[in-house]
Amino acid sequence: MARRRARPAFPEVPAGLLERIAGQLPQGELPAFRSSLDDAPVVSIRVNPAKHGGPEGVQVPWCTSGRYLNERPVFTLDPLLHAGAYYVQEASSMLVEAAYRTAFPGRGPSVALDLCAAPGGKSTHLRSLLPEGALLVCNEVDARRRAVLAENLWKWGGTNVMLTGSPAADLRAIPGTFGLVLVDAPCSGEGLMRRGPEARRQWSPDLVDRCAIVQQGLLDDAWASLAPGGTLIYSTCTWAPEEDEHQVEALIQRTGAMPLEVQVPTDSGFARAGHGLRAWPHRVLGEGFFLAALRKPGVCEQEGAEDLEAGVLEHEERAWLIDERMRNEVHRLLRLLRVDAPGTPLWTRDRDRTAPQAAAALCPAAARLTIDHLQAGVLAVDEAEALAFLRGEVLRSGEARGPALVEHRGLGLGWVHGAGGRWNNGHPKPWRIRMR
Ligand code: SAM
Repeated sequence: MARRRARPAFPEVPAGLLERIAGQLPQGELPAFRSSLDDAPVVSIRVNPAKHGGPEGVQVPWCTSGRYLNERPVFTLDPLLHAGAYYVQEASSMLVEAAYRTAFPGRGPSVALDLCAAPGGKSTHLRSLLPEGALLVCNEVDARRRAVLAENLWKWGGTNVMLTGSPAADLRAIPGTFGLVLVDAPCSGEGLMRRGPEARRQWSPDLVDRCAIVQQGLLDDAWASLAPGGTLIYSTCTWAPEEDEHQVEALIQRTGAMPLEVQVPTDSGFARAGHGLRAWPHRVLGEGFFLAALRKPGVCEQEGAEDLEAGVLEHEERAWLIDERMRNEVHRLLRLLRVDAPGTPLWTRDRDRTAPQAAAALCPAAARLTIDHLQAGVLAVDEAEALAFLRGEVLRSGEARGPALVEHRGLGLGWVHGAGGRWNNGHPKPWRIRMR
């Protein structure tokens, strides 16, 4: 179990919120709930099953790759974080795995969507749960948040990831497409009240009402894009029933959606809330969270392939790694969604020069293709050199020629280009470490 420490003082928890929560909790539980909001958040990570390394920790019971840590290391200064060996993620939200396994006890679907994906915690998780040959569309409508999502997705290094920036209404153009849709909705953020002061400052009953309106629209658009027999997972990081179980109940009434009973270990502390599960921070080792899973009537005919059939998609001087079996689907979605990247970026061509993309270093299948294509080398670095590389520094060497993949403990980090006595740094500026 992770140790809980005191944290600096935040603004008071809004009285109106406590009043409402007193009515939601069994009698006598409010003091324990209130006091849990003054604890420091629990630190947890999710390790990348396709990579290796990262801090040791204690298993999160509802997530095979989730680990609680006893303390918060300086994550920024760990090259393995930048290599995508693990992702720092709050533990309650790893419940997505329990929903996925309940919905897909056998082979997962062939096409999935994460509608509200930035910064990418649940997208990277889904990428690891889905069959490798399944296409995962990661969508984020906010451009700045989408840049962070891209960084996290590419570092995770999974294949068959499409990055899009479509408003949810665009999903009406692709009805019945996805075997799985995750709607991790924007919400009033009540469950984040011990992570930062902002959640306490911004809360109001009016915010809850406004979020509920947005959520209903997102759910309707998402539902339209779900294939018959497909599963929609809905989640928020709030406790407001109007944003949680009431949304689920209303969707059932509007569409005939069939709720699934998400299976979790009995002692994990989640409470049933309507057709969903709720995490209260005094009962669950994690932050506030709500999740429900709903099936669309019909038979799901999707089955994702277990492996990748690597193919290259070239368009306007750029190349991406895609799955050959998904080529037609990728082309269809390219026409109908606002696509930033149809697959893992490999390289760009500028007149006579071909430059490798950072994402290609972090995805083993993409790195192999790129190394072959560019006839690149591999530069193995120790931790100090890895940190220098991640800071954007030039690496010195007697013999530095052409492009090379920078590798630390067997994991790709990025690209350098040799120029005689030095390796020029190709790490994207926004990804560089500024901390010393
Ligand atoms: N799923 C993410 C994760 O696990 O890292 C967190 C998603 S966050 C709770 C909700 C996201 O929804 C935000 O990135 C926000 O930009 C996006 N969003 C806000 N309003 C939206 C809207 N009207 N339609 C679609 N997405 C919206």
